[in-house]
Parts: sequence; structure tokens; C-alpha cells
Amino acid sequence: MSSLIERDKKIMWHPFTQEKTVGPITAIKKAKGSYVYDEQGNAYLDCISSWWVNLHGHAHPDIVQSIHEQAQTLEHIIFAKFTHEPAVELCEQLMPLLPNTLNKFFFSDNGATSTEIALKMAYQYWYNNNHPEKKLFLSFEGGYHGDTFGAMSVGSSGFHDTFSNLFFKTILLPYPETWRKDKEVESKEAHALSVLETYLAKYQHNIAALIIEPLVQAACGMRICRPQFFKSVVERVRNAGILIIFDEVMTGFGRTGTYFALEQIGSTPDLLCLSKGLTGGFLPLALTIATEKIYNAFLHDEWKYALAHGHSYTANPIGCAAALASLRLLKQESTKQAIQAIHQAHIEGIAYLEKSCPYIKNTRVLGTISAFELNDPSIIKKIEPYFLEEGLLIRPLFNVIYLVPPYSTTTDEIKNIYKKISTILHRLYS
Ligand SMILES: *Cc1c(COP(=O)(O)O)cnc(C)c1O
Repeated sequence: MSSLIERDKKIMWHPFTQEKTVGPITAIKKAKGSYVYDEQGNAYLDCISSWWVNLHGHAHPDIVQSIHEQAQTLEHIIFAKFTHEPAVELCEQLMPLLPNTLNKFFFSDNGATSTEIALKMAYQYWYNNNHPEKKLFLSFEGGYHGDTFGAMSVGSSGFHDTFSNLFFKTILLPYPETWRKDKEVESKEAHALSVLETYLAKYQHNIAALIIEPLVQAACGMRICRPQFFKSVVERVRNAGILIIFDEVMTGFGRTGTYFALEQIGSTPDLLCLSKGLTGGFLPLALTIATEKIYNAFLHDEWKYALAHGHSYTANPIGCAAALASLRLLKQESTKQAIQAIHQAHIEGIAYLEKSCPYIKNTRVLGTISAFELNDPSIIKKIEPYFLEEGLLIRPLFNVIYLVPPYSTTTDEIKNIYKKISTILHRLYS
């Protein structure tokens, strides 16, 4: 009987993986709380929330029970001309956490589709309003919005360059990424804003929407910008009569310290994309949330004004039940305290690394996210096995090491992660 890894190797094609050079992979048997366990029973502290989806720890009993009960009651129903309690209830429960202008909820089942839908809504909003010439999109260098064609077209993370001949037209803005003790942040932001002004002067009447990852570009390496920069961008773009899309697929549900990143920016988008943490990391589900103004532009006696979009698993009831249970946990005082404690532990851990490791630069902390870069980028290729050996599930991005732990992670565990990272870096650099 061959091992699971051998069986996998024969038949599987993994996401975002160069199958030829990937090397050994890990088979995970079970997970509980902040830990996942391999076939041999080795425990790994999940420092990245399993690709940024988990919120409250693995296999949280409240979410397990909600899923169990919903699966016995109604597992799925077509969502065109039908509805169900968990979908309606979920949107009603989300509303008080969102700006009150965002009140029309469109379901789908992953982050890329939620952004794809926002792009289609923005384009068709103008089309339905007799502005078919508004078909350009504005986005930021280093942005990532998913792997489908629309999402790839507005992204510029470098992952999708192969497909660039097939993309629709997007105008890219400089992204004034910043970090602790950055002395140039003001000038970088001023430059980005002046480039924006230039593009607006030239293309304003042909731009449908701006799409941004508010506060942090996750996939491009946890690249952070100051909230006041985003606020200035949104103000200028909105004054130019252009729609604003916030892609909070990653930043939603407490990740950046507030329920949503938009709260820290103090701006309200016309369209908001949510996925990843929506179900607490249990099931694929996504939302694109629009204002009434957008929604109304699709109301007409003729069908062609409607949004031609839907997925088989739209608003899956079990996913909605998981999301409701996750939301109940998120709203608990203890969860807010846990998020705050993780934030504080990151600040202390990063300060400790800065002192103990002369090998790192551009350190940054935002809510439950922390990240830094290595002075010597060649080290990053060797580091992953060391993390696993130390019982840490960490997946570097380019030259960036980052932590995005589930909210179940204790401050002692976070402290320990930084100590282990310091030990590993000393070993690699010695
Ligand atoms: C992950 C991510 C997506 C894509 O979500 P998938 O569920 O992987 O398709 C889109 N936008 C942002 C900001 C993301 O981090």
C-alpha cells in the first residue's frame, strides 16, 4: 500500500505549484484549533490560516454543528427564483457591520468570482446608463484579485504574465507601499497621487471603476499602504465620477484589526467583495455587495439589463450556515480581544526580530498580519523545510515572510513563532 503522498504524486495537479520542482509535500490528516496534524501525528501551528481563510481555528465546534444541522435540513437549492433562510439571515446579520449604503447582496463561491462579478456590475452599470464608452479599469501595481480572466486583467502581481495578451485594458497606478520607520512614505504617496491625477485628466470619461485591496496587497507580499492614502485616492476617483470597488476578500472579518479595512480608511465603496474568512474557513462562499444606486441600474422590463451571472452553488445553504456561525463567533467580545492580543504580540515579536536578527528589513504589522523581507533573497528558497521541522506552517511569498494566524492563536504561541523564526534565520545565515 503506497503512502498518500505517493498516491497523490501519481494523479494530482496542485494549485500555484511548479509540479516538476515542488519537492516533498505534506499530507495533513486532521486539524483542531490552531494546529494541523500530518500522517505521522506531527503538529504544525497554522501561521497562515490555511491560505488566509480560517478565522476561529480549525474544526470549531459551533461551525461544525451549524453545518451538521443545515445539511440535514436543506443542503442546496437553486438560487434563481428561490431563496432560503440562511442566505437572507446572513445578509441581514452582515448589514449592521457594513456602511448602510451597501445593501444589495449577490452571492457566489470564491474570491475571484466575487471580484469578477464586481467588474461586470461596474461595466454594466455604465452600459445600462448609456455610457458604453466607460470600459477601462483603474488598479494598483502589485494588485491581486483572483485567477479568472477579469480578475487577472485588473491584477498585476506578476503571477499571470503568460496570459497578458488576452487581458482587457487596465490603467495601473503606482502603489506607495510602506513599512515601519519608512522615511519616504510621504513622497511615495505624493507621487502616486500625481500619477493618478494625470490619468484622471486623460482617461476619466472612459474609466468604469477603480479596484483596490484596501490597506494591504496580500498576494503580492503583504504590502501595506496608509489608510489616509486610500482615502485621498477614493475622494479623487469618486469626484471624477468613477465607481469604487473594494476587494476585501482577504482583509474582511477582522484580519486588519477592524471588521473591514474600509472602517480604517473611512471611505465607502460602491461595490464590496468578500470571501475567504466569510465561512470561517470551512466552505467556499463569496459575496459582492452593491449600493442601491448600482442595483437600480439593472432594473428594467427587458431581460438584457439584468446581470447575466450565476453559479450552480450560489448561496449554498450549508456555506451560509457556516458563515452565520462564524459571524456569531466574530462578534463575541473574546474574539475582539483575541484579535487585539495578536496585534500586540506581532508588534512585540517584530520588534524582537528587528533586534535579534540583522538579516531582515521592511517590517510591518497591520491588525493580525505581520510581514518582513530578508536582506538576502536567496535564503527564502531554502527556508520552508526549516519551518516544518520547527512545527510551523508558514508559506513565504517571493522574498516575504508573513504571519496571518487564526484568532484562536494565543500570545504565547505567537511569541514562540518569532523565537523560532529568529533561531531558523540564525541557522540559515551562519
Ligand atoms: C485570495 C484573493 C482573491 C481570490 O480569492 P479565491 O477564493 O482564491 O479565488 C481575490 N482577492 C484577494 C484580495 C485575495 O486575497
